[in-house]
Amino acid sequence: MRQTPQREGILHVLKDSDRPLTVEEIWERMPERRSGLPTVYRNLERFVREGWAESILGADQVMRFVRCDSRHHHHHLQCERCGRTAEVDACGLEESLRKLESLSGFQITRHQLMLFGLCGACSAEKDR
Ligand SMILES: [Zn+2]
Ligand SMILES: [Zn+2]
Ligand SMILES: [Zn+2]
Repeated sequence: MRQTPQREGILHVLKDSDRPLTVEEIWERMPERRSGLPTVYRNLERFVREGWAESILGADQVMRFVRCDSRHHHHHLQCERCGRTAEVDACGLEESLRKLESLSGFQITRHQLMLFGLCGACSAEKDR
């Protein structure tokens, strides 16, 4: 898929960061700020719809964005200590979801799951 320079810029900023960023942070890091914050926000919403990025609501109730590498269904993890995120190209919930379907009578068509914890570096530091 072709991206406009503006969209490319946003994706680059997201890719260069190992932590999720707020709209303001993304905008500040863009090399050329020809468009305003609302445009950046609109582009981010589109990225989320198209699967290029995901929005994460932090413990501080602030919305941040992270880039998605996988084009499949996947999940993100975030370290609660340093804020770093990781993406796992796997789900592992299929069986539990089938159980939930039979318990609820719902046909589950999609789900979102954000996992929080300690990254490898932070848990090693904690154990020292
Ligand atoms: Zn993602
Ligand atoms: Zn960490
Ligand atoms: Zn899943």
